[in-house]
Order: sequence, then structure tokens, then C-alpha cells
Amino acid sequence: MKDGNLRDELVKVSRLAQERGLIVATDGNASALTDRGTVLITPSGIRKDILRPAQVVEMDLSGRLVAGRLRPSSEFRLHLAAYRARPDVRSVIHLHPCISVALAIAGVRVRTDMVPRETLCGLAKVPVVRFAPPGSVALATAAARALRSSVGALLDRHGSVTVGLNPVEAYNRAEKIEQLAALTLLTLVTSNVGPGRRR
Ligand SMILES: [Zn+2]
Repeated sequence: MKDGNLRDELVKVSRLAQERGLIVATDGNASALTDRGTVLITPSGIRKDILRPAQVVEMDLSGRLVAGRLRPSSEFRLHLAAYRARPDVRSVIHLHPCISVALAIAGVRVRTDMVPRETLCGLAKVPVVRFAPPGSVALATAAARALRSSVGALLDRHGSVTVGLNPVEAYNRAEKIEQLAALTLLTLVTSNVGPGRRR
């Protein structure tokens, strides 16, 4: 995909995430791998519903800024570690979906066994990564380890990280995790008020 298209896609999914409440304020970050092997990533400190494609910055895989006037997202280490762990991946998205984070805090695993496999966007499981400070090498390392065997994971007390072949696929997986988290929560709640079904 051309750089311009990748920038547009990153802005599109970032805006969707904000509009759907998967992030608030200046939260969240999205990146994509270019054909040159560099990484386009959203900048730090800007709401994603007013982000413009020209504000997306470019880094190399060692973390050096290649192009752009703004600071890259403070979670750039998380993105770079995901690309190193998954050579098949071309896009990474990190969001703060509320219900998913609540379940992680409560120690409840997001269930992937309640809906047809075809609807899971490739999410066979949603592992939870132990808390490490946002932006840290420790968080990036732990998340990358989880992403070796999953296309999505939750970061305890923090958010989600998902990967894909393009920004839309990575974003779809983040939306799906939040939907599965909502389903998991609702089945827990309704199991107390319903007649008691299977599962
Ligand atoms: Zn975050």
C-alpha cells in the first residue's frame, strides 16, 4: 500500500476508535509498516478525531524518527516490538476499550467460545499481559511475547493491542475484543437473572 493510503487508513481507524468510545481524550495509537520497512505511527498528544494524515510521523524499526514534525506516540516501543515479534504483521493498534479493561482488572478472561469462530476476526484467544508502565520497554516486551501466539491481547489496567495485515484488520480485532468483552460481561450478569441456560 502507498504511504498516502496508509496514512489515510491510520487516520480513518483512529477516528473510528474515538467515535466509538474505544479511546477518549488523546488516548490510543496506530501504526503501519511501509514497503521500505519503516513505521508510520500516530503522533503523541492529539485527539484522533482531529488527526490529519500529514501529522502521522515515520520511524525506523530501531526507534529513530525518520520524518515528521511531531513527537511519535509514547507507545512506539510497543508497536516496534510487535513488528519484531511478528514479521507477518503490517499494522498495530493500541486502544483503551473500557469493558475489556474492566474484565482484565476483575481477572475475568474475555471468552471467545460463545460466538461462531467465523465471526472472531482470527481471535482464538485474548491473553492478558501483566501490568507494566505505559510506554515502557517492559510493557513492549511482555506484549510482544503475547502477540507471538495471538493477534490481540489485553494490557492489564490499561488497554488492548491488536495486529493485522492492514490498519482496518488490526482495528476490527480491537472492536471485536470489546464486543466479546461486553458479551462475556452480559452473560455473567444475565446468568444471575435468567432461568439458567447451558454454559
Ligand atoms: Zn495506552
